[in-house]
Amino acid sequence: MSTRANTPADICILGGGIAGLWLAVHLAKTGRGVVLIERAALGDGQTIASQGIIHGGVKYALTGAASAASRAIARMPELWRNALAGDGPVDLRGVQVLSDRQWMWSTASLLSRMTALAGSKVIRTPVQLVRERAEVCPGLQPAPKGVDIYEVPEPVLEPRSLVASLARQAEALGVRLILGQARLEGQDVLAGSVRLSPAVVLLCAGGGNAGLLEQSAAAPMPRAQSRPLHMVLVRGPLPVVYGHCVAGLSDKPRVTIGTQDDPAMPGRRVWYIGGQIAEAGVHRDAQAQIAEAKRELAACIPWVTLDGLEWGTCRWERFEGLTASGDRPDEPVIVELTPSGGASNPGPRLLAIWPTKLAFAPLVGERVSAMLTADQPPADLNPGVGTPWRHATIAPLPWDRAQVLWSP
Ligand SMILES: Cc1cc2nc3c(=O)[nH]c(=O)nc-3n(C[C@H](O)[C@H](O)[C@H](O)COP(=O)(O)OP(=O)(O)OC[C@H]3O[C@@H](n4cnc5c(N)ncnc54)[C@H](O)[C@@H]3O)c2cc1C
Repeated sequence: MSTRANTPADICILGGGIAGLWLAVHLAKTGRGVVLIERAALGDGQTIASQGIIHGGVKYALTGAASAASRAIARMPELWRNALAGDGPVDLRGVQVLSDRQWMWSTASLLSRMTALAGSKVIRTPVQLVRERAEVCPGLQPAPKGVDIYEVPEPVLEPRSLVASLARQAEALGVRLILGQARLEGQDVLAGSVRLSPAVVLLCAGGGNAGLLEQSAAAPMPRAQSRPLHMVLVRGPLPVVYGHCVAGLSDKPRVTIGTQDDPAMPGRRVWYIGGQIAEAGVHRDAQAQIAEAKRELAACIPWVTLDGLEWGTCRWERFEGLTASGDRPDEPVIVELTPSGGASNPGPRLLAIWPTKLAFAPLVGERVSAMLTADQPPADLNPGVGTPWRHATIAPLPWDRAQVLWSP
């Protein structure tokens, strides 16, 4: 679709994942004119691939010591719950909540039980041992007595409805969601036939940030990393499960399972499985990863029959900024760059943003908004947006992609 628009916009966001879309809504609500440019489809990078878990830090506390990561993230479920209730800088009332909580369970070994207990004690999130099986998700109800199950008050959101809800809101606020591969050229942003000269450029392109930073020639060049995952997909007549199976003194659950209805076939569900298996499985091919997943599920959730299911895998990269010391960050990384033109010819303000987690989006919104409040929005810096532009649509979920090869 080709559209013409001449609304002035002073902030240009590059990348339509959770960071870009959340910021588009948050900043447009404060009266800023915003244009967002997305190279493929909204959510197409990590956001649609995510498991939609709004972490509150439980996963990070599994070693028994509250880390900086678990403290920074502890506020997030509350901020998201406010937004889901329509009370916050963005309104998420249109988002599908797959589950308003999760469960953490241990395999029957003593070590696993101790890990679950340690994780439950050291963080602010009130994790409680569930006494009645009827209170847990259906797929965990048949668990035998020796299996401890804890309730974790971390909601799970359907990522595609999250992306769609933010996109709708952004557009209602006058944000243009432009399809195109953005490039930085001097003081301008280019995407297809669109050329913009915004006052602020926000690099929210995940894996695309590295290339954009090189084009900007700005300094300091922030350090970033990518960490691969080999996720597992299972579909069939599966029960609903949301949660982590923990074992050993590791901050990684053995498996983290989320469930969605499969729109392709009524009654069929998809389990989307991450956790340690997805991290450790990056060097396995799909068949080896599926074989490992069958072993892990048989050990972690043996009461669910795995007969007659279809299996697939998909690979993703997580893109994260690095701290000054080169460590994995515990919070979002937001770096303001000094433009290459120097003081005489400064060009737009340039911020590189890595949320680190989907759950950190509200914190990204707060921090970037605070950094930009002193700016005076100029009247109209965007004559170029009057040229025709194509509208960005929403990316498909991982299991709806042709690349996934299903096997018995
Ligand atoms: C498998 C998986 C599961 C996860 N599960 C969770 C979870 O349950 N909970 C949680 O909190 N976090 C989770 N995460 C992490 C979370 O998904 C990411 O931290 C978050 O989505 C990153 O958002 P983003 O907007 O920075 O990047 P992205 O979602 O990657 O968006 C970047 C966008 O920029 C676009 N782009 C790139 N280059 C350009 C360019 N030059 N011009 C225009 N557009 C460009 C891309 O197409 C993409 O749409 C998970 C990550 C993965 C991979």
